[in-house]
This record gives sequence, structure tokens and C-alpha cells, in this order.
Amino acid sequence: MGLGNSVAAAVTAAVALSGAALAQDHGHEAEATPAAHGPGWSYRGPTGPEYWSRLDTAFAACAAGQQESPIDLSGAVSADLEPLDLQWRRLPARVFDTGHAIQVEASPGSNLTMGGKGYQLLQFHVHQPSEHLLNGHRYPLEIHFVHTAPDGTLGVVGVFAEPGESNAVLQTVLAAVASAGPADDRPSLDLTSLLPEQRGYFRYAGSLTTPPCSETVDWAVLAEPITVSDDQIEAFARLHPGNTRPLQPLNRRFLLRSGQ
Ligand SMILES: [Zn+2]
Repeated sequence: MGLGNSVAAAVTAAVALSGAALAQDHGHEAEATPAAHGPGWSYRGPTGPEYWSRLDTAFAACAAGQQESPIDLSGAVSADLEPLDLQWRRLPARVFDTGHAIQVEASPGSNLTMGGKGYQLLQFHVHQPSEHLLNGHRYPLEIHFVHTAPDGTLGVVGVFAEPGESNAVLQTVLAAVASAGPADDRPSLDLTSLLPEQRGYFRYAGSLTTPPCSETVDWAVLAEPITVSDDQIEAFARLHPGNTRPLQPLNRRFLLRSGQ
């Protein structure tokens, strides 16, 4: 549709502006070590999502933000978006539990180009169930691949998982969590196995889905899910059940859908 380029430019500009203001605030989406927590927050009770903004002044955006994530991916505008250019290399990765999610820290060398901007893969982690919805549908799992750009903004690629064939990479991740082996035991992971065949995606300007909820994230959520086994879903549900922030309003944002 003809709207595509101007809408994409507006989204890019909005992401760049919000990113410049909050460039250093990566929060949990880009958490480097398990010990990097600020004030305690959780997904339920008195430290749950509805109270995040009151736990620390640095978390104000969790309540006051106008470009928050996650959202329901519905009512998207079809746009002429460039394909996501994902150059992920098979590299050793460190698997650990942040206290909020199972996270896998990538070795340097895996890159994403989105909207003409280059990012480097930092880590990925798993939410159970999904944080984004696809036309009102919530999936059992959602994986977030967190990339950083030199200007401090983030490019996060979201991948839904639905019940079906088991996923070999997630099996390796679960085995590493279960073994709790030495810190230098880094399995080599082929991360492209965590991507669906079709790479059509939704794009919008949003935020971290964890405190401090900074609005520094250019989101790309793939429309096609991968499959994981029921056992794998149950394993993540046992580790961190319900590590999912409630839906946030779209407000005055464009949600774009690539034509692929
Ligand atoms: Zn996440």
C-alpha cells in the first residue's frame, strides 16, 4: 500500500527520538548478568506489574509511558518494509536464570539490520505465555531476541511458539538449565532454528516489557510461530510461570505489517 514509506519513516523517527532520551536504560530486556537487578519486582502481588512504577522513580515509564509494550498485534497497516536481515552465527552461548526468565547470552558476532539500522545480538529469553497477542490470540511461549545499536536503542525480534514438534535448540537450553553446570560450559547453539520459515513481521515503536519500561525498543514480531513440544512448554511454565506483562494500549502509534 502507498502509505508504507512515510509511515515507516515516522516510526523510525519516533524510535530514534525516544531512544536518544533513554539510551542507557536497557533493563531486563538487555540484562547482562543475573545480579544486575535494581529494586525487586515480580509478575504478581505487591511487586507485580500494576505496582512497578511505584517501586522506583526510575520505573515511572511503566505507568506514565505512552509507547509501552506488549500490545495486541491487530489492525496493522500493510507497509513496504524491508525484510529483516538476521545474520546470526552459530556461537557458544551462556544459559542462566535471571530470576525473571531463562536467558541465553550470545557471544558477539550475530547481527540484525532493520530499517537500515545495524544491531548486535546480546541475548534471548523466554516468556510463558506470550506477551504480544496476534489478533487477540495468546501463544504458549514468546522468545525475545534482544539486539543493541551503537546509539543505545534496542531492536527486539519476537518469535511466538505454538504446540507441535519439539525444538532442538530449546531442548539444549533446558538441558543446560537443568544441569546447572560450570559457568564456562557454553553450548553451541544454531539460533536460526528458533526462527520460522516465513519472516513476515509486525513492526512498531515500543518499550521494554520489564522495569524500567524504557521506550527505547524498535519491535519486530514475526507473524509465523515456530513449534515446541508440550513438554517444552511445561518445562518453561515450571521455571517461570506467567512472566508476562499485561497488554498495553497502542495509543497514537502505527502498527505496521510487512508485505511478505
Ligand atoms: Zn522479553
